[in-house]
Amino acid sequence: MTIVRIYPPDPTLRRFAGHEPRRSDEAGIESLTSLLCRLALEHCCAPHRLYGALAADNWDKEKATLTKIRSAESQLINSLGDTAKRASEALKNESDISNPAEMTFLCLANLCDKKAKHFLHKIRHWCSQCYLDARHANIPAWDPLYWGPSTTTVCVIHKTILQNTCPACTKVQRHLPKFPFLDFCEYCGADLTSTGELLCEPQQLDERMWFARGALELIKSQTEITLSRENFSSHLRNAINIHGAGKISRFAKMTGIKPCCLRNWQLASSAPTWSNFMDVSHRLNVPPAQISGQSAVFFDPTKFKCNPILQLDKHHRHLPKKKLEEARNAFAQLLNSPIDVWTFRRETIFDILKRFDICYQTFQRNFSDLFEEFSKKRKEAAECRKGLSKAARIERVRSARIELAARNLTPSVRNLKESGMVKVSDVVPPRAKRKAPGSEQLGAGS
Ligand SMILES: [Zn+2]
Ligand SMILES: [Zn+2]
Repeated sequence: MTIVRIYPPDPTLRRFAGHEPRRSDEAGIESLTSLLCRLALEHCCAPHRLYGALAADNWDKEKATLTKIRSAESQLINSLGDTAKRASEALKNESDISNPAEMTFLCLANLCDKKAKHFLHKIRHWCSQCYLDARHANIPAWDPLYWGPSTTTVCVIHKTILQNTCPACTKVQRHLPKFPFLDFCEYCGADLTSTGELLCEPQQLDERMWFARGALELIKSQTEITLSRENFSSHLRNAINIHGAGKISRFAKMTGIKPCCLRNWQLASSAPTWSNFMDVSHRLNVPPAQISGQSAVFFDPTKFKCNPILQLDKHHRHLPKKKLEEARNAFAQLLNSPIDVWTFRRETIFDILKRFDICYQTFQRNFSDLFEEFSKKRKEAAECRKGLSKAARIERVRSARIELAARNLTPSVRNLKESGMVKVSDVVPPRAKRKAPGSEQLGAGS
């Protein structure tokens, strides 16, 4: 096991001096996690260690929270909530960076829904060409902040689809990876720039570019414009008054925005989610930085985009009854299919979700009654798989022993390993898990 620690190993962290966030005209500023990775590289430690030392006053006490952020939710460091606030304030105290908050989406705190559900990509998205450009320029790879939102799917410089899986092991990457190199897979070390360009369907490119540019412009203008939901709702009210003759239903029909949403935001009592907000701004064809800013906005109904190709608000979409019925039938069919289908994952829930173009949240909302049966079936399949791998293991060892006997060798662990016919785990028992102090000692393993 490799343990990476802060070097030099003194309890106080060296002050981070002489670092400025990287930024460029085309890609804007980098994200906070990207900066933390570079700091970690310079301090020869793991990014999560550095983040822990930076953000936690008491590492041992807050280990659970930090582990959660590090292991599955590192996108929160770049988001608009408390985690981002805390990280940027800590960095401000510890470094000479004047405004670390501009590497996060804290500027949206007064505009978008604070829960920030489905706001940022949970896993890291990157453009391999941009990483390659950084490498050629001899600087560590960095992630621009605009790659973060779930609405950004293309690189504005190269106009290629952002990637999110390792080309070698197909695993997804975290925003705070295990090692401080963003351009190498944190699990297998493969070069993440080796996939080449992923071109996007031409008819979708314009829309994807619109959303990516919108996010980028919003980030760039955060220091000049105050973004707020009051501005957003007052601009919407104006649009409804001018183009819908003051009638919400009429305006809703015109633009395809849900009337209930318009009503809520108009009262400024509820904040739009990020995808709602981007969806509205795209339909009205006004850059997101303008529609949430304080200066007057001009709406042009001839340029409204009422039928977007990309369905942004997938998570909150209500499905038509017929589609729900069809999906339910497909799930029922999967539930009734023989256990082999489950064991070898010939068809999975995710295949069905993909087929019907519904997201997991919609599945959870509409089919909660099936959960119990699904988990039962999954457990059963896992048992089957266990049985199969046990049988295969016994078979491997058996044939290796026969082979050794034919060569007049004793079937020792070393000889078995050297025969190359068995896996190491077949002959070496798995290491016992370390028990927490004070936990009850269970009987000796079988
Ligand atoms: Zn790029
Ligand atoms: Zn990999």
